[in-house]
Amino acid sequence: MILPGAWLAVLGGGQLGRLFAMAARQMSFRVLVLDPDRDCPAAAVADRHLCADYLDDAALAEIARSCRAVTTEFENVPAAALERLARDVVVRPHGAHVAIAQDRIREKQFLESSGAAIAPWRAIYGASDLAPHLLDGLLPGILKCSRSGYDGKGQCRVRDAAAALAAFNDFGGMPCVLEKQIDLATEISVVVARDAAGRSLTYPVAENMHAEGILDVSIVPARIAPALADAARAAALAIADGLDYTGVMCVECFVQKDDRLLVNEIAPRPHNSGHYSIDACLTSQFAQQVRVLAGLPLGDASLLRPAVMVNLLGDLWRHGEPHWERLLAEHNVRLHLYGKQTARPGRKMGHYTLLGDSAAPCYRAALRMREAIAGA
Ligand code: ATP
Ligand code: MG
Repeated sequence: MILPGAWLAVLGGGQLGRLFAMAARQMSFRVLVLDPDRDCPAAAVADRHLCADYLDDAALAEIARSCRAVTTEFENVPAAALERLARDVVVRPHGAHVAIAQDRIREKQFLESSGAAIAPWRAIYGASDLAPHLLDGLLPGILKCSRSGYDGKGQCRVRDAAAALAAFNDFGGMPCVLEKQIDLATEISVVVARDAAGRSLTYPVAENMHAEGILDVSIVPARIAPALADAARAAALAIADGLDYTGVMCVECFVQKDDRLLVNEIAPRPHNSGHYSIDACLTSQFAQQVRVLAGLPLGDASLLRPAVMVNLLGDLWRHGEPHWERLLAEHNVRLHLYGKQTARPGRKMGHYTLLGDSAAPCYRAALRMREAIAGA
């Protein structure tokens, strides 16, 4: 067990690294952040910021010397950095698990092998993989770059083989997956935590709304049949067990119009759709990440109140700083800003969580609030 006072490191200093650092410091750990960006969101809240590349030898040696355990905040951190650190310190999650989530082709192969239902898909390595006779049942579809996509980036909706080929060429011919476009009833996600001894738990299921490929709003508990929520939680646990995963991860799922569940993707870290847990659960997903990393018993993930999480994208700053005083006049709202200097369209600047007595009215109130706070 790693106890308070010890140093924990996180690779990546974006908002997830920042929220991890805040949880760890609240629990009396000390936090080192590695991120090449001098102004990264986590730098302002960590005890120490190493401003260096993720594969920088001296930086990794310094982490190995000064920290007891290392985690990551996003899957595009080189898995090699985690593997290098694992020679000297506790690393959770395992670099091999991050490597799977970094690569959509490997991720889908793993999900299929673990028995999860996923959307029909095909790996695309070259133009010949897009011959029309190979695309039966995959169109209309979505072509997704196999690596380094997030928030819907590196994706293109395609109606036919010609459009798929054009998109593939636009992406520079890098390996992609072509995935059938699913008729979605809704989208849900499950955060799961699993410790080194294989004990695991799931968080309440979140119902997720997206706008232009970016998470917009999460409603918890999801407004779905209890049996479907149970199935999603079971699928998430099975995936974590199948990987022998150690850490916090999120499983994103599609619910089809016929109520069938498909696993979309996994994130080997806390997730935007789990941010509600900071204010609405006994143990937040970030406190849980600290617990698993430090080898402490898993914390209770029970939901205290129904909650709606609303993302604040840079677009909201179009007419100036939003009217926070209007939001904070509500007694049941929690605002989280990530300390980013410039608001660009589509950039995640913060979020707020509205706690209520039941999900549906809370959702309507949460959306009204966002309209009310848009700058003058
Ligand atoms: P994020 O980092 O936000 O999770 P991402 O870039 O990894 O996003 P995906 O999760 O694959 O991308 O897709 C983003 C969103 O696009 C999904 O949440 C969903 O709304 C939509 N989408 C993706 N694939 C499909 C599909 N096959 N059918 C229908 N909608 C899809
Ligand atoms: Mg996604």
